[in-house]
Amino acid sequence: MAQLSPQLKQATPVVADRGEGVWIYDEAGNKHLDFTAGIGVTSTGHCHPKVVAAAQEQVGSLIHGQYTTIMHKPLQRLTAALGEVLPAGLDSIFFSNSGSEAAEAALRLARQATGRPNIVVFQGGFHGRTVGAASMTTSGTKFKAGFSPLMPGVVVSPFPNPAHYRHYGWDAEQATDFALRELDLVLQTQSHPADTAAFLVEPVLGEGGYVPGNERFFAGLRERADRHGILLVVDEVQTGFGRTGAFWGQEHFGLTPDIQMFAKGIASGFPISGIAASEAVMSKAWPGSQGGTYGANAVACAAAVATLEVIQEEGLVANAAARGAQLKAGLEEIAEKFDAVTAVHGLGLMLAVEFTDKDGEPDGAAASRAHQHAAKNGLLLLTNGMHGQNVRFIPALVVSEDEVNHALSLWEETLSAVL
Ligand code: PMP
Repeated sequence: MAQLSPQLKQATPVVADRGEGVWIYDEAGNKHLDFTAGIGVTSTGHCHPKVVAAAQEQVGSLIHGQYTTIMHKPLQRLTAALGEVLPAGLDSIFFSNSGSEAAEAALRLARQATGRPNIVVFQGGFHGRTVGAASMTTSGTKFKAGFSPLMPGVVVSPFPNPAHYRHYGWDAEQATDFALRELDLVLQTQSHPADTAAFLVEPVLGEGGYVPGNERFFAGLRERADRHGILLVVDEVQTGFGRTGAFWGQEHFGLTPDIQMFAKGIASGFPISGIAASEAVMSKAWPGSQGGTYGANAVACAAAVATLEVIQEEGLVANAAARGAQLKAGLEEIAEKFDAVTAVHGLGLMLAVEFTDKDGEPDGAAASRAHQHAAKNGLLLLTNGMHGQNVRFIPALVVSEDEVNHALSLWEETLSAVL
């Protein structure tokens, strides 16, 4: 009898039967409050009626129309709809299926457009599991260990992560000074600007711990990129489509990319991703370098169009900001009662609670205990952080005030039980 790879071990014991909004129902009919959203994917909640209807209708007319063979209407509609929400000037779009593929596409384009080999990435970033994307990932060695050689041409520079740099007594300003000075040193000593194709950065470190960057850091990247003809690639795979309480995470910092990656929240669960750039940059891609059998699947495109409409019609970006503020305030209030919980960070509905031990070191074991206990108690969460020291909360953007309050009471019960 076949079985799943032992590596595909579920983080919770739930066997899902169906999902509705922020709730998952298991085979026995028990309800679980889902604050994982399929790792930030089901933006409009599980099985939003409008998304379901759009997908069902599309399934009956055309499931797959390979996009370099034929054009199909959902793809035309999605391209037009993204044009309404992408930053001005990023009006040329390539579609793929996963965040990792978007990272690979951004990498290929940056190298082809500049003719330069190197990519500067920022400590704690996560960009995916394919070999190129894993080579650019620094949120944990577990994502890149044991299958070397990895892709050459990647140089790592610090991200201004106050939670990390507090160990040196630095605040956010000092961490930012350090990160920008080190970046200059990287360009001086490791990757000559004329050899540097791109800076690749997340607006908020995702798997790395829900650590927002800041305006001065990103302005520093933009200025150096412009000065040296380096492309600024922003990975909005996790932060996009309203997750942070703004449509794109970059909006919090006035950050404008040359190449933007997107995935996850775009289609409420259907696999679709891509990159956007200006026509001038995108036209530098070499023939044959963009394509794929499944990219921009017709059902996924129809679901994405419906998702974008729901986000707009239901004011989900504003809801993410309001419910995010409520959740953050509640998590902070609870954190005060427990010595082991030292910080709550993130933006909008992308929040992480950090655990530290009595020596002030990241405590992955405590985070894991809390995560497991919460799941048994009906609250589904995930962990993250470079040491697995965070429990993170990423509910669908449709989450209500009552549902946030319910999650907070389950969380407080959980911490009382495990700490
Ligand atoms: N970039 C970021 C910022 C992500 O959060 C992720 C997934 N967690 C990826 C890339 C990779 O996406 P995928 O798992 O769809 O390949």
